[in-house]
Amino acid sequence: MTGSAPRPPRRSALLRTATAAAVAVPLCTAGWFGWRALDHAGPAGSTAAPATAAASAASATTPPAAPPPADPGTADTATDTPLTPPVAPPPTGSAPAEAPATTPPPATPTAATDLTGRTVLLDPGHNPGNSAHTAEINRQVDIGNTRKECDTTGTETNAGYTEAEYTLDVSRRARAILTARGAKVVLVQDGDRPWGPCIDERARAGADAHADVALSVHGDGGPAAGRGFHVIMPARVVAGKADNAAIVAPSRRLGLLLRDRFHAATGEPYADYTAEEGLDTRSDLGGLNLSTVPKVFIECGNMRNSTDAKRMTDPQWRQQAAQGIADALTAFLTTQEKTEERHGS
Ligand code: ZN
Repeated sequence: MTGSAPRPPRRSALLRTATAAAVAVPLCTAGWFGWRALDHAGPAGSTAAPATAAASAASATTPPAAPPPADPGTADTATDTPLTPPVAPPPTGSAPAEAPATTPPPATPTAATDLTGRTVLLDPGHNPGNSAHTAEINRQVDIGNTRKECDTTGTETNAGYTEAEYTLDVSRRARAILTARGAKVVLVQDGDRPWGPCIDERARAGADAHADVALSVHGDGGPAAGRGFHVIMPARVVAGKADNAAIVAPSRRLGLLLRDRFHAATGEPYADYTAEEGLDTRSDLGGLNLSTVPKVFIECGNMRNSTDAKRMTDPQWRQQAAQGIADALTAFLTTQEKTEERHGS
């Protein structure tokens, strides 16, 4: 969870056609909103609309003109996705189910993976100790365009596996992969502090570590009928103490790489209840508003969905999640100069 303002979930084909949906969706949605409001909503929850809220709302009321393609993002194909990573090369564009591209993917098995001299900041969302420190984490902090809770407890599976446990485990696994590739990896918290840190401190940590790139790991607490992962990229926020204008473009490049690499490594579909094609852009997250190094968030799955919960509870799947994250960061760092030169920035 990322402390978001509630928004209408995107209606998937599955939800529209399921006969039970007429009853189940409103209940689940109400529960989701209620939970998010209870756990996450602060002043930002009702005042800071995400940059893409209008687009999301529009999409929520406009059915697609044609049946969805054979998209790994649909539940149909996702239910039988094996735990082993796909053998096909990572997709290169926004349509992962398309036939293999005729041009080589940006990162092949022979792509550069030497990260010597590079620094990565990993931000495991929340903290297992937050629930015992509600006074501390409820303190309001300035995120530039509003104020928001210092931190939140995060979500958990119905069986009680917490988001904070998940994010720390996946971050440690990603650290091991990146360290083996030569990178210096700094974790915002490593189970070594009783709560937090606050979101503004998490945002500053990238610059404090002199990191080349930063990434925040989360698991979502969406409606039980929805599943899939999504990546959250920073909207441009220049307000108060926030000025992230310089990181918007490189963060988007990271976001696209992460969307594709995570999907390839895990087989996890794009979220069918929020975001679009696995991508969202938001202006209400302190960790993105206040960052001065390229940064994105990933919501690796919906911990309130039974299929996603089963995966996220499985250490083997978490290793795949970490692999996708590490591969995306590696691709970002090893293609940075070339890509930014090409884009003229
Ligand atoms: Zn979270």
